Amino acid sequence: MGTGTLSIDLDALCANWRALDALSAPEVETAAVVKADGYGLGAGRVARALTRAGARRFFVAVAEEGAALRQALGPDPEICVFAGHMAADADMLHDLALTPMLNSIEQMTRHFEALPGHPFGVQLDSGMNRLGLEPTEWQAARGIVMAQRPVLVMSHLACADEPDDPMNARQLAAFREMTEGLDVPLSLSATGGILLGPDYHFDLVRPGIGLYGGLPFAEARAVAHLALPVVQVREVAAGEPVGYGCAFTAEELSLIATVSAGYADGLIRAMGARAVLFAGEVPCPLAGRVSMDLLTVDVTHLPSVPSHLDILCAHQSVDDLAEAAGTIGYEILTSLGARYGRRYGGDGTPS
Ligand SMILES: *Cc1c(COP(=O)(O)O)cnc(C)c1O
Repeated sequence: MGTGTLSIDLDALCANWRALDALSAPEVETAAVVKADGYGLGAGRVARALTRAGARRFFVAVAEEGAALRQALGPDPEICVFAGHMAADADMLHDLALTPMLNSIEQMTRHFEALPGHPFGVQLDSGMNRLGLEPTEWQAARGIVMAQRPVLVMSHLACADEPDDPMNARQLAAFREMTEGLDVPLSLSATGGILLGPDYHFDLVRPGIGLYGGLPFAEARAVAHLALPVVQVREVAAGEPVGYGCAFTAEELSLIATVSAGYADGLIRAMGARAVLFAGEVPCPLAGRVSMDLLTVDVTHLPSVPSHLDILCAHQSVDDLAEAAGTIGYEILTSLGARYGRRYGGDGTPS
């Protein structure tokens, strides 16, 4: 097989959900964010496993993702849409029983006209200035909106991955002020906010990245493992170049393995020479530039070259790889390409 193998450990995923769930009080609901195809790992498979772990509510970015997820999950779990009710979404929201998180007066008008009585939530802007109603808009609309009985009122933290950032407390205060006296379930926190402690939990938390093994949930178990097949191994004499732009030159007689996967598979070119692959425990540096479909790897020091080299494994997390590429684990995961063979292991039941 010429493609890499992306193994997704559903037991680890579910263990991460349980561990995050255990960080809030029992009466706080722990939902799961499965936008962007479950952070690149397959929204349907991921959500079905999390259902077995106990998740009852899922969040996606847009209604189209919600529609696909509904097919995978069947009628029971609640599916919420962060982008709210966009023009021409009404049929999809209705037919697939999706719950939009309404972001603006315009969306509210659209929703109440097109789908009166259809469940909805409200997203408030507590300071991030990305989605949701501003405090003054909410002040004016809240009486009318509350009369329509939203299922959730939520907001989102801009800096929750930095516990000491004063923005966290500012947003907490703003959210409290905007929701004071409301008789409705409230939600403020994603993964980072869960780790900030009980003040930030309210009635429902919405972890994403922590489920998939990424920071800021440092205790997370790794969920994605990626092994890449070695296509060819060649000797390169001292002074000979490797790859595009001849960016690598062998300093001594070297053994170079050419491995099948490249930037078209989400191994972004910016990781350049800082990335390593692993032969079991042994690190093997990239030699030269990342190509579209191939990597060249220095394996001179290996006693024998295995059939596969690992790029996501026990020795290199998504965040390690992100660091080499100057990005974040979220981008590494959601960039994982469509060409990999995907294998799902475990079923989410505790081992
Ligand atoms: C993506 C997202 C989440 C999940 O965030 P993580 O940092 O991945 O846990 C929660 N809420 C909103 C509004 C989001 O956009």
